[in-house]
Amino acid sequence: MNLQLKYSVPGKKTNTPIYIGKGAFNKIASIFPFEKYSSVLVIIDKNVAQHWSERIYKIIGKSASYITIPSGEKNKRLSTVEKTWAMLSKKGFDRKSLIINIGGGMVCDIGAFVASTYMRGIDFIQVPTTLLAQADAAIGGKTGFNFNGLKNTIGSFSAPLGIISDTTFFSTLPKREYHSGFAEIIKHAIITDGELFKFLIRKNFSSLNGKELDKVLSLSTYIKCDIVRKDPFEKKERKKLNFGHTVGHAVEMAYQDSSTPLLHGEAIAIGMIAEARISLLSGSLAGEKFRQIETLIRKAGLPNKVSTTYKNSISKKMLADKKNVGRQIKWAFLEDLGKIKVDTTVSDKIVNESLNYILK
Ligand code: NAD
Repeated sequence: MNLQLKYSVPGKKTNTPIYIGKGAFNKIASIFPFEKYSSVLVIIDKNVAQHWSERIYKIIGKSASYITIPSGEKNKRLSTVEKTWAMLSKKGFDRKSLIINIGGGMVCDIGAFVASTYMRGIDFIQVPTTLLAQADAAIGGKTGFNFNGLKNTIGSFSAPLGIISDTTFFSTLPKREYHSGFAEIIKHAIITDGELFKFLIRKNFSSLNGKELDKVLSLSTYIKCDIVRKDPFEKKERKKLNFGHTVGHAVEMAYQDSSTPLLHGEAIAIGMIAEARISLLSGSLAGEKFRQIETLIRKAGLPNKVSTTYKNSISKKMLADKKNVGRQIKWAFLEDLGKIKVDTTVSDKIVNESLNYILK
């Protein structure tokens, strides 16, 4: 399947094709001929390299350079960016070079940042290998890394040349990572309340067959593309995608240095429950719809609670969220399923009660 979306980039419009489906990666060199480029760097997540390096070398070829990035959110940091810039510079990569990012959302975000800044920006292709990255992270042109204990504080907007979402990569994805991917899919379902929501409510997530998975990925991709197309630089419409992320990012960073860090999707799942609770307590969201959201998250095998120990840290990190203006938290507020009001403020009392709800 081949979906098309359009990103606006300063001064011009570009089409970013997205190829979804089993075996899509096999066609990368015919879709994006490498001969056009003076050199190619392939950035690969370490775990992905362990499972897939043979296939990747076979498809991309020996003339490319390869760099492996240590896995995990902790490595989404400046030193990883510097190491990659250094390699590009040492090997004499010029402005006509191409970067191919192969990995989950971490490698897609950081590799895209490297590409968007090296020589003021070179072409790059995203090859997301996790469900989360295929359904969300690789789409939309947001790049970046974590800084000073905060999520994605440094970054840029930069559209890739194309995205290749090959579901074959999921065969080696740990089960927990696969489930984590459903968080952003559920978010897309909640904020649109359309076909995806109806489909997910009926399905058992762990046993989706290939066709059903393609359907879920395509619907999720359409939702993200549609929102990004309307508002590529997050002036208004795109802020809807931040639903669950104010609490979710704070939860993710609060847990990062613990002995039991949470995965991105797991933290966002908890964030969505807390933020849906805010809507419930504010009198906007009906109890029955709040319970449907909880049901979806439970069905996806995602957690819904955090340890009480982290409450203060979560509150502090929420105050430093990059979406805030001054010290005021700006919420993507769920008025109803399919209806998000952005840049909304909420009373401290309701926020506090909602945080208490997610504590165990
Ligand atoms: P990840 O990139 O850290 O990958 C998760 C784990 O799976 C890692 O251990 C990785 O090594 C492993 N892995 C990846 N593909 C594999 C495969 N095919 N087989 C075996 N192991 C594999 O995490 P993620 O969940 O993909 O993405 C989370 C990141 O995405 C976060 O940094 C988040 O901030 C970012 N994100 C960005 C956007 C955006 O719009 N740019 C949106 C959502 C999330």
